[in-house]
Amino acid sequence: MTALRGQMMQMPLLISSLIQHAARHAADTEIVSKCAEGGLHRYDWAGAELRSRQMAQAFARLGCMPGDRIGTLAWNGYRHLEIYYASSGSGLVCHTINPRLHPEQIAWVANDAGDRVLCFDLTFLPLVEKIAPQLTSVEHFVLMTDRAHMPAATTLPHLLCYEELVGQENGRYRWPQFDENTASSICYTSGTTGHPKGAVYSHRSAMLHAYAAALPDAMGCSAREVMLPVVPMFHVNAWGMPYSAALVGAKLVLPGPDLDGKSLYELFESEQVTFSAGVPTVWLGLLNYISANGLRFSSFKRTVIGGSACPPAMLHTLRQDFGIEVIHAWGMTELSPMGTLSRLKAKHAVQSAAQQQRVLEKQGRAVFGLDMAIVDDQGRSLPWDGQTAGDLVVRGPWVIERYLGLPASPLVSVDGEGEWFPTGDVATIDPDGFMQITDRSKDVIKSGGEWISSIDLENIAMSHAGVQEAAAIACPHPKWDERPLLVAVPKPGAALSRESLLEHYRGKIASWQIPDDVVFVEALPHTATGKVHKLRLREQLKDHVLPTA
Ligand code: ADP
Repeated sequence: MTALRGQMMQMPLLISSLIQHAARHAADTEIVSKCAEGGLHRYDWAGAELRSRQMAQAFARLGCMPGDRIGTLAWNGYRHLEIYYASSGSGLVCHTINPRLHPEQIAWVANDAGDRVLCFDLTFLPLVEKIAPQLTSVEHFVLMTDRAHMPAATTLPHLLCYEELVGQENGRYRWPQFDENTASSICYTSGTTGHPKGAVYSHRSAMLHAYAAALPDAMGCSAREVMLPVVPMFHVNAWGMPYSAALVGAKLVLPGPDLDGKSLYELFESEQVTFSAGVPTVWLGLLNYISANGLRFSSFKRTVIGGSACPPAMLHTLRQDFGIEVIHAWGMTELSPMGTLSRLKAKHAVQSAAQQQRVLEKQGRAVFGLDMAIVDDQGRSLPWDGQTAGDLVVRGPWVIERYLGLPASPLVSVDGEGEWFPTGDVATIDPDGFMQITDRSKDVIKSGGEWISSIDLENIAMSHAGVQEAAAIACPHPKWDERPLLVAVPKPGAALSRESLLEHYRGKIASWQIPDDVVFVEALPHTATGKVHKLRLREQLKDHVLPTA
């Protein structure tokens, strides 16, 4: 039998089609940016597409060839958006670098990716001047500003001005067609241990991710939305929002360097933002600011919170006090980053607010395209009963197969079959498919052979009125191997005692899971992506002796 082939057009899934679509169908829909130079910049999708074409011409004029890497060190802003589309759209690869990495690591990732051009915001000029001698592949340095803001003197050789590069080109450029499996962008994991590792996305993976992200049970994006990604464009493509916004033709608001509560609140209000996404620490700052000043949001309706566990107390405040729908999401760099999102099913509609809250506290259900399983240490799959915890593994068209330049594949098999990506997270999955992360496998606290979830301990601490932020870590114990130690940052002005905090755990978890001790600190160490740096915290407290030891 000869198979009948489908007789449909062969059109590769290419990132350039997103901005072309937005320029045609949402031509006058605005893109508003806070600039690193100060002030607001406004234009629209038609303007963004024209300037992206001009920048694609400029990259070609600099001698860039398909596959060349364009490094960026930049905030969320319109020039960064143009570089996203100009580079990927013309067959170059956009390598977004996290400026919060250590300077040595920044140089390391730029060299590892082999960046030929480095584009950066004014904020990062001193950083780039400092690391330039270590950069082995960069031929062109582009300052993402206009002539008026170019420095009078710099140690960088041949520093180019972004606006001059764009201004020289006429924009008569056709987006090229090529294989959809071509690399589109690179993002490195934060590398809290060892070197960062590069995830290389393709046009195909980015496009399928953008479609899936826009689904109603995922982020649910639409042309009626005003989207403000607080999540940085320098890490995992701001969770794909620059792509999803173009796909649906939404207004996009880019907050630049000003991510404090006051600046964000003012921008949310002045641009009438309806939808946002960010890590919990960002919402902490914003909520502190609006609570302290007795303010309300007039347009903000929905937000995605992920990157680390959303504390239930924050979920509750946003929903109940501010009427904001919270979409708790889980993902990682290696997943482009979207994995699961917590959105209710029809059957949850009849439940009480408290029952719904418990569902929404979980990290949620897999988006179509992503398959997940939990496994034991022999790689055997475990039941979806909401109780059994195992190592979380995933697979799908926007999950990496390997890391850039590393020969060994990280993939594992489940029940002896197939290839799955081991996430390093420990989770349960309930019969409705809601996944809940209990820990990073390396952060699990093992007490007398039983596991204690550090996330549970942190969530309870953060539901105490006097706690600003908390982290639970394992502390060595002669009898139990490890026992939990809570490290807490008190809220300004709060009189918080060790006893009242430990008392707060009573009745909320089994008594043997309650931390053995509390240490108060002024601030917790954070990683480059805003998560609590547990490794550093464990180092800082390695000599701590528990009262029970
Ligand atoms: P890095 O910290 O190296 O930049 P990612 O930003 O990709 O890595 O972080 C991925 C990890 O963040 C996940 O494996 C998981 O441990 C954690 N994470 C992400 N979202 C959540 C969430 N909603 N709840 C708990 N943990 C989360």
